Amino acid sequence: MAITAGTFESLELRGVGRTFGGHEALVGLDLTVRAGEFIALLGPSGCGKSTALNCLAGLLPLTHGQILLDGTRVDTVPSEKRGFGMVFQSYALFPHLSVEKNVAFGLQMRGLGKQEIRRRVDEAIDLVKLGEHARKLPGQLSGGQQQRVAIARAVVLEPSLVLMDEPLSNLDAKLRLDMRTEIRRLHQSLGLTTIYVTHDQEEALSLADRLVVLREGRVQQVGTPDELYDHPRNWHVADFMGYRNILPGVVVAPQGAGDRVQVSVGSLALSGRQVDPAGSTARDVRVAVRPDDLVVLAPGEEPRDGNVLRGTVLVVEYHGREFAVVVQAPDGTLLHVRTPVAPQVGAELALTAPAERILVFPADLTERSAE
Ligand code: ATP
Repeated sequence: MAITAGTFESLELRGVGRTFGGHEALVGLDLTVRAGEFIALLGPSGCGKSTALNCLAGLLPLTHGQILLDGTRVDTVPSEKRGFGMVFQSYALFPHLSVEKNVAFGLQMRGLGKQEIRRRVDEAIDLVKLGEHARKLPGQLSGGQQQRVAIARAVVLEPSLVLMDEPLSNLDAKLRLDMRTEIRRLHQSLGLTTIYVTHDQEEALSLADRLVVLREGRVQQVGTPDELYDHPRNWHVADFMGYRNILPGVVVAPQGAGDRVQVSVGSLALSGRQVDPAGSTARDVRVAVRPDDLVVLAPGEEPRDGNVLRGTVLVVEYHGREFAVVVQAPDGTLLHVRTPVAPQVGAELALTAPAERILVFPADLTERSAE
């Protein structure tokens, strides 16, 4: 394949920050990206993801820190000279130009010869499977096809880095899934170093080699999908990684050796695993449990660990092979659980989860970072 990544060994962000007036949109972002990596910047709305991406792109000057490409500063280099490709949520195509002319535009600006432009444009259009639409205008294409044009337009320039800002958020659910696979396929075949902004945890987990979780402008955790999924450092990351049950509780007592603790969550008593990177001995905690780690106990069944959560079934939703069930404990605490068998609304249920799957975080731990 002739489309190749521009080359660099590493991209380094050192203490990158951006303030707007007095507001700190991004604070002290440290990150080293290796060539060929796919990095997702993940976090809720307003956490600073787009700010970070725009700083990288050169669309926004930094107020703190440096960006280095193989040790050379690029944050002072104008956007168009950085050699990065960009794909936005809004596609940002020229509406009066055909697909092939949109894709050719950047190459023409670089003054390449007609033949080379033709060859590279054809190749990029083939890559995103738009051959039969090459002469159409963007307005004659679906949202997914327009986004493919935007991707072709970025990769045709053989960028050293591709920056994508929520590229799938304007697409419907089915198209999102298809395009996600497409982006993964393109990344695997071209090996383009990619930084991808999303607030969608599933998208980030399925696409990225490493994820950077941001909250209020600060990095919460950097890691591979399985590291973040199984070992979130704080309850905000857990919340983002699908630990749907994040419950306020208090530590009642340490339990045996190691990291086991007894906690009470409203009227519920549980034993769980204390996740405490700061070595703090917090009493106020957040207890995090995944819906699929909660299991419905059969009548009379005794759980290991003695963990029993009792409540009344409030909501049952059909989700294909399983049901998403909301159970309300006597004190009002809501528990989200997934079960293969639908319980009756109003039924009394007893749930359990093994202590090692119940994570206990200090309640006030909000800003721990580092890779
Ligand atoms: P979203 O997912 O909603 O796009 P985000 O995580 O990308 O959110 P940013 O767009 O980076 O968040 O914004 C981070 C913070 O900086 C927000 O509080 C936002 O209001 C603020 N902000 C962003 N751009 C500007 C600007 N040009 N002027 C002032 N404040 C800004």
